[in-house]
Amino acid sequence: MSEAPADLLIVGAGAAGLTAALVAAERGARVVMLTKGHAPDSSSMHAQGGIAGAIGDDDTAALHAVDTKRAGRELCRASAVRVLTQEGPERVRELIAMGVPFDPELNLEGGHSRRRVSSVEGAATGWAVTSLLARLAGRTESISVREATNVLGLWVADARCLGVLTPDGPIAARATILAMGGAAALWARSTNPEGQIGDAIAIAFAAGAAVADLEFMQFHPTVLAGSRLLLTEALRGDGATLLDANGERFVDELAPRDEVARAIVARGHVRLDLRDIDRGRFPGLMAEIEKAGFDPATEPIPVSPAAHYTIGGVVTDLFGRTDIAGLFAAGESAATGVHGANRLASNSLLECLVFGRRAALAALDEPAPPSRLGPTPPSPAVRLASAELREQVWLEAGVVRSGADLDHLAASADPVASLVARFALARTESRGVHYRIDAPATDPALEGHFVLRPGQELKLEHWT
Ligand SMILES: Cc1cc2nc3c(=O)[nH]c(=O)nc-3n(C[C@H](O)[C@H](O)[C@H](O)COP(=O)(O)OP(=O)(O)OC[C@H]3O[C@@H](n4cnc5c(N)ncnc54)[C@H](O)[C@@H]3O)c2cc1C
Repeated sequence: MSEAPADLLIVGAGAAGLTAALVAAERGARVVMLTKGHAPDSSSMHAQGGIAGAIGDDDTAALHAVDTKRAGRELCRASAVRVLTQEGPERVRELIAMGVPFDPELNLEGGHSRRRVSSVEGAATGWAVTSLLARLAGRTESISVREATNVLGLWVADARCLGVLTPDGPIAARATILAMGGAAALWARSTNPEGQIGDAIAIAFAAGAAVADLEFMQFHPTVLAGSRLLLTEALRGDGATLLDANGERFVDELAPRDEVARAIVARGHVRLDLRDIDRGRFPGLMAEIEKAGFDPATEPIPVSPAAHYTIGGVVTDLFGRTDIAGLFAAGESAATGVHGANRLASNSLLECLVFGRRAALAALDEPAPPSRLGPTPPSPAVRLASAELREQVWLEAGVVRSGADLDHLAASADPVASLVARFALARTESRGVHYRIDAPATDPALEGHFVLRPGQELKLEHWT
């Protein structure tokens, strides 16, 4: 390790990491970004429907907050929702100013009471936004990106994070932001890129940081059967209908995702009918469907739910600060409490922009690292998720869960699978995306966030 520590080390080059990098570089910081595989391999690149933000004439941050909290089933942290919805419009307008070619009309998505979702070509939003941010970062001299650098652990000494541990040794920095996305690829059926197996949760918890809300995995209801191809909510917003085996509608297509996902699981075989919508608004998506062998103009296409968004993660305050000094988390890796028990559609790209920026600003206030960093711990082993493990997580912590299945999963050798099961066992109720067949009602006594600190018991906390 010969170079001087960077001002800011960012693990992850999705929307949260890129936002943080650009904000920090603009303020003169030297930034190093690390990605597990190739830089474009992030959930952010795959995001489709868009970014929520109250920019319409008939809309306000307060209305957006009401919808966010309703979707979150009384569990959203009110202060985080305020920050997200009040700062959101400015972040979206910044993207417009940077040149993101948003469609002229705002979209309506499930759970939103107004048209407030900005999208590109209907379903190419993630690609348009993330590739633009990546191009800007690529042009910024003070940002360097190291691909294929698998972060295996954190370098913590005297209760302060000094950087990260990789197979090639340690990388030091004044401050470190985990922007490593979620854990949904730990489930066999998932919309996420394969590497998104919750490494942020694993390494932060191993280093002593608190994690929270891990029982809340959001399942996207409409994923093309047998594939990772998500069929965005915007299609249903535009009038696409869900049909059962008899060709009958059976659910309000714009109900919150958890309700739609469970209704689909209960029916078994379900198809999404795109025949009557303006398919020309979603050119990329229609091409993907046709590539998969279906003709959306003539036949409804088979869909089923898949693990999609990790509501829980590494506990942070509203500036991304974790329990460990010098360590921050933002985007899908963080648990700010903003989504409560169910994320409102298109609030997660917004979360990346709003909280990625805030984490960068706070990280720049960190003091310089000690001049002598001392001995580095050895790098931990690479964490892999086998097909068997992913299948087990899908079967035992899926859309509908039971105590017996979760008990079995809690014994898993994989730290994240085991944590998910322990959290889901503790929540002996059904709320939002977490549904227990053996506890189908909501229990008002569990209105809070389960938090786990290494070496302690799970604790129910009330976040304001
Ligand atoms: C198909 C799909 C469609 C979606 N559509 C929408 C939408 O329309 N609107 C919306 O708001 N949200 C949507 N989402 C959710 C949203 O895209 C994500 O929540 C958000 O992009 C997460 O961004 P992030 O920056 O936190 O993480 P990501 O974009 O997932 O980036 C994670 C980064 O961390 C890196 N990383 C992970 N582990 C390691 C490691 N061990 N070492 C080094 N690097 C590592 C990865 O390489 C990657 O660069 C969608 C998600 C998917 C998968």
